[in-house]
Amino acid sequence: MTFKVDEYGYYGEFGGSYIPEMLYRNVEELQSRYSDILSEESFRNEFKELLEDYAGRPTPLYFASRLSGYYKSRIYLKREDLNHTGSHKINNTIGQILMAKKLGKTRIIAETGAGQHGVATATVCALSGLECIVYMGRVDVERQQPNVLKMKMLGAEVVPVDSGNQTLKDATNEAIRDWISHPQDTHYIIGSVVGPHPYPDLVARLQSVISDELKWQLREKEGREAPDYILACVGGGSNAIGIFYHYIMNSDVELIGVEAAGKGLETGFSAATMSLGSPGVIHGSRTLLMQDNDGQILEPYSISAGLDYPGVGPVHAFLHQTGRVSYMNVTDKEALNAAFLLARMEGIIPALETAHALAVLEKITFREEDVIVINLSGRGDKDMGAYTKEIDNE
Ligand SMILES: *Cc1c(COP(=O)(O)O)cnc(C)c1O
Repeated sequence: MTFKVDEYGYYGEFGGSYIPEMLYRNVEELQSRYSDILSEESFRNEFKELLEDYAGRPTPLYFASRLSGYYKSRIYLKREDLNHTGSHKINNTIGQILMAKKLGKTRIIAETGAGQHGVATATVCALSGLECIVYMGRVDVERQQPNVLKMKMLGAEVVPVDSGNQTLKDATNEAIRDWISHPQDTHYIIGSVVGPHPYPDLVARLQSVISDELKWQLREKEGREAPDYILACVGGGSNAIGIFYHYIMNSDVELIGVEAAGKGLETGFSAATMSLGSPGVIHGSRTLLMQDNDGQILEPYSISAGLDYPGVGPVHAFLHQTGRVSYMNVTDKEALNAAFLLARMEGIIPALETAHALAVLEKITFREEDVIVINLSGRGDKDMGAYTKEIDNE
């Protein structure tokens, strides 16, 4: 069995390219060229150089000794939070801006929910001198002001979206509309392993740098490439697939993806697509999504804006169906507790998304010799509002 995308963009029954006819030209151009560009030497060199000198890679693999003592096992943190702009998202936007330049595009569009992907996109547009337009739901614009201001300072235009619930899903629809009306000069930088083929594969390959580094870093520290467990949170699934990528064919490594249970799976306020979703089409690909009996997309909820998505990347739907990856879920409360535990044991304040992966440490009993790697996808600066409420309650 293979876990790679097939020539039509499918992972088993999931994936593909379900797009309006008006988008065929743009998507087809990307489909026919992305793989060749990724293997061009000039692309690879430029990508590597920017990852190192601009984003700060390789990110450290840190042995968390107090946390390891507490959970009685060997816990490592892959420090994606130390990247420029504070998360793994910059790996993808650097790769895609280089791709856009190779394709001769001069105008960049993106969607954003919490604003992290918007900031990472505005950053690489400034770096490259390309025009940047970021679509963001009106509700998100209002609740994520610091990121809106960062995007503006970086020279991007932030367009508030008033349709639907005025959140991420609506911003994505608006970005797609923009792309349709600018087929010649515009590249759409999608922020996760979602969207029509080739985006899920393109983003996964750009993020696979995380597991590429992990292999040699673990060999240095543990004398072996493969850990016993890898844990990562899953919104669309890009940081998770990035750290799983080079281990998927090694069945000795237990891979665990962690979704947001929000206020609880039964409450109607969650974003646990693997548990609650069914097959359907969202934003150009067939995958699992949270929908009602009429196929209307259900509004997702999580305390963490980055996990608050009603679908999941098609590769994860497939890895779930085949059983290669286990998916668990964690409530808001459990994630908050895990964030405070890490802050006080290791002096690292994680993003709320990342805290979901950390919370799984409470739910599995490890052996003392087990080597566990957690993808520390981002830092918690942006989440101090939510953390402040907890501090005030102490
Ligand atoms: C955006 C984000 C996520 C969720 O996106 P994935 O594509 O699932 O990785 C997770 N962690 C952080 C810090 C983020 O900014």
